[in-house]
Amino acid sequence: MGGSAALREAVRVRFAPSPTGFLHLGGLRTALYNYLFARKHNGRFILRLEDTDQSRVVDGAAQGIEDMLEWAGIPPDESPCRGGPVGPYLQSQRLGLYREASDFLLEKGAAYRCFCTPQRLELLKKEALRNRQTPRYDNRCRHLSPSHVAEKLSQGTEHAVRFRLEQGAEEPFLDLVYGWSRHEVSSVEGDPVVLKSDGFPTYHLANVVDDHRMGISHVLRGTEWLTSTSKHLLLYRALGWQPPRFGHLPLLLNRDGSKLSKRQGDLFVEGFAQEGCLPEALLDLLTNCGSGFVENRMGRTLPELIEEFDLGRIERHSALLDLEKLPEFNRTHFSRRIRDEVLRRELVSELQTAIEETFGQQLVDRGVLEAPYVEQVLFLRRGHVSQLKDLVSPKYAFLWIRPSVSHEELHSVSSEAEKIGTLVLGLLDQPVAPLNLEELSRDLRLLMKQIKGTQYSSAMKLLRLALSGRQEGPSVAEMMVSLGRRETCARIQRALCR
Ligand code: GLU
Repeated sequence: MGGSAALREAVRVRFAPSPTGFLHLGGLRTALYNYLFARKHNGRFILRLEDTDQSRVVDGAAQGIEDMLEWAGIPPDESPCRGGPVGPYLQSQRLGLYREASDFLLEKGAAYRCFCTPQRLELLKKEALRNRQTPRYDNRCRHLSPSHVAEKLSQGTEHAVRFRLEQGAEEPFLDLVYGWSRHEVSSVEGDPVVLKSDGFPTYHLANVVDDHRMGISHVLRGTEWLTSTSKHLLLYRALGWQPPRFGHLPLLLNRDGSKLSKRQGDLFVEGFAQEGCLPEALLDLLTNCGSGFVENRMGRTLPELIEEFDLGRIERHSALLDLEKLPEFNRTHFSRRIRDEVLRRELVSELQTAIEETFGQQLVDRGVLEAPYVEQVLFLRRGHVSQLKDLVSPKYAFLWIRPSVSHEELHSVSSEAEKIGTLVLGLLDQPVAPLNLEELSRDLRLLMKQIKGTQYSSAMKLLRLALSGRQEGPSVAEMMVSLGRRETCARIQRALCR
């Protein structure tokens, strides 16, 4: 049988989801750990889609998974879309390879044809359940005589191929995370089907054939597959192939320790992308809630994750996903992007588009779309906002459009509206250098002391209202710096004259 020895010398890992729906956070985490391992060891990261259960395949899911890996910044090196030297990367296009392996097993006597009808299998199952036993195939077709098999074949009887598991069969192995593991496989479910009657392989055969043919050096997958590994190793042995190393990744659970359900719609990566979450924040959160690093700390970028990742540090306990921390991770990474000159330029341009799309004709003047103004807003709000779209939300609309403030509302905040307004206009009238945040904060405080009976906080609410149409929001000094002297004065005058 053809091997892939040359490929195996290098680190080659794969993420092998079934295209049955959107990419889930648990899947993204498995893909990420594979990606980190590949990059750390100058290896290749492969995306293989396991679509052998055609009844569960969902249209568009394959593309969606690949798109989301791209979005997350961990694109595969080889995949159904990108192609590669050992493709195709979609199992339904590799049926010949599985049949070849199955024929080899049959020839060797390691597998046999099973002619049991679905009805018989169903009866076996029902009977076992009635006796409160685990359903298990009774291996009946193991014992068919060659002439009986030949006769059935000549009649064209539908059949599956089953892998012969010897009594007590187990194959201990050294898992890279869980250490020495052994799982008895034969008594659990009887001889497993490796090739179904429709010519499609089952997961076990396809997985083994592909990991071998694709030269996979390390299989890093979810811990739910730990108990299948012995079965896979027996298949490797029967096929005469050298198996890859295995490392099973602990489960990702909700913060309260409950299972992360694939049906939890809010855990799809697409949703996070659509919400404007930063991919690096999501990856940082996913790695922070698990292990695999010397220390857990927030704010790591992908290159830092690669640098610091160590498979040997993955612990066996489950990772607890705390999504409530996501805004904080986003804020941290958003700030990082703003500090980086190249990324900042991208943010400015994205924000310009968002402003134009959101406010269009209502814009104060076209000047607010200019890069220096937009960039200044980003700098001033650094550490406060977690996503770009926050800056076009109603809270920040004042940056781009003029608010409308009623006289009544203004006076309901402070009866000293005129006085406060006039004093501030006086302050801003002094022809000094561009407004400075610290100085302005200090001056406003001093200025308000001049008005007896007025609380500083209500004066600020009033000014915030005049400048933005809302009583809550960023500090007044910051609003003034963002808007600039001319616009600030115009808004205060406008509010007072109404
Ligand atoms: N298709 C399997 C899954 O979706 C892959 C398991 C494996 O990585 O071997 O989880």
